[in-house]
Amino acid sequence: MSVFHLKYRPQKISDLDSVEVSASLKKIVLSQEMPQAFLFAGPKGAGKTSAARIMARAVNCENPKDGEPCGKCDNCKEVMKGSCIDVIEIDAASNRGIEEARDLKEKAYLLPSKLPKKVFIIDEVHMMTKDAFNALLKLIEEPPKHTIFILCTTDWQKIPETVLSRLVKVDFKKGNRSELHNSLRRIVEGEKFEIEETAIDLIVDKSDGSFRNIQRTLNEIYLNFGKKVKADDVKAFFETKMGEYTPETLENDLVDGDVKLILTNLEKMAEKGVDFKSFRENLLVYFQDKLLGGLGVEGRGQPKMSTEATERWLQLLIAAGKQEKEVSIDQLPMELAVAEFLKSNLQSTNFNQKKEPEQKIEETKKEIVSHSVNKKDVDLGIDVAKIEEGWGRVLTAVKPYNHSVEAFLRAARPKAIDGNLVTLEVFYPFHKDRLEEQKNRRIVETGFKEALGIEVIFECVLSESKQAPLIIKNDTPNALVNDKLEETAKTNGDIYDVAKEIFG
Ligand SMILES: [Zn+2]
Repeated sequence: MSVFHLKYRPQKISDLDSVEVSASLKKIVLSQEMPQAFLFAGPKGAGKTSAARIMARAVNCENPKDGEPCGKCDNCKEVMKGSCIDVIEIDAASNRGIEEARDLKEKAYLLPSKLPKKVFIIDEVHMMTKDAFNALLKLIEEPPKHTIFILCTTDWQKIPETVLSRLVKVDFKKGNRSELHNSLRRIVEGEKFEIEETAIDLIVDKSDGSFRNIQRTLNEIYLNFGKKVKADDVKAFFETKMGEYTPETLENDLVDGDVKLILTNLEKMAEKGVDFKSFRENLLVYFQDKLLGGLGVEGRGQPKMSTEATERWLQLLIAAGKQEKEVSIDQLPMELAVAEFLKSNLQSTNFNQKKEPEQKIEETKKEIVSHSVNKKDVDLGIDVAKIEEGWGRVLTAVKPYNHSVEAFLRAARPKAIDGNLVTLEVFYPFHKDRLEEQKNRRIVETGFKEALGIEVIFECVLSESKQAPLIIKNDTPNALVNDKLEETAKTNGDIYDVAKEIFG
């Protein structure tokens, strides 16, 4: 807990960081009949406990003003001491059983010793066992007159309906930008910080909407840099917190499939005490940008992986976030995500999600040598008719690298050549996507080079007509012997049905 957290803890309902919560609590304390059991529900660091403590004073204050505790009377002071015998804070995560619930019940029936009202603040109440909930339910169904129960939770859906129906629920949300700014500014001004405006923005950006995070960060920044704070300092601070493993480096390592390297780096980060939650959230932002770029949204990142792979990686990152709360080894969820991602990539080429049955065929794959180049205005001395003529040879050349690429090409048609750019007509968006994946691109380009001796790049265009394309026969005699795909194609006459059957 930070110094600032204690020093700048809100003292009145109107001091609360969340405008909405402040308004609804005000309404409650001013209502004719004060409810006796509340549920404060919302994410960590949203101010639930602070609000509960203010409520403990508001219901006990001798001179409340407009519902607010005065902060000066004996009762207010008693609660503010923090060791008041009549304000009982229980952590349900570590006191979740029936014994504790019975103990709670006993305490509740005893009259308060100093204050008019006994206030029970039960944190993480969703962690209670079923029996404990039943005991609690009896208590809040008919609470002793002198008691107030404030149940706090980050996961209210886990609370039994019977209990929920007896509670007045107050929703705590993540802070919005202006609330977070105000919260930060209160400390900055109170402590006379000299801090650049962009640095403030950065702290707010990285707070994940948590007021507690803001206080913590500012506390750490203060310990590192004192009270004169530049934006660069804050940037450097967050970078260290994330570790030196940048999203870009991780992306490259993922593409290379170097699981050992990645896991070693993550372990090093853990040793340094890097905040894995921030690290993962940073990755989410980075890869979402890549996903949008990959889907053609302008001004977004250039993906190095296929769209499918990026999607899957994002899903794994999201899943890792859910595990973060349940696992005590900070780096483990990320490590599992990496292992899972690379494991499934090993089962298929091209970072493709589906297993491709034909990959099982025993065959030594040739190493891909060619690399993509840019479009050039050159005369390669070949026209589209010549390419069509040699198309079968291209297919034969491609096949040893990857069977499915060959099948996609078989269902495509050379349409034009302009300089070194070949345009292929395809008939399904799925084929276009797959052929244009980086690794498949290289395979196709290699095929052109080997079969026709030309260095080209290619683009796929979707055919406007839904008419079946011409099926190009392979012109090397031995190429398709024992090729199940070709046989089936011959029998049913439609290569698309076959391709669809195999590749989905
Ligand atoms: Zn008072």
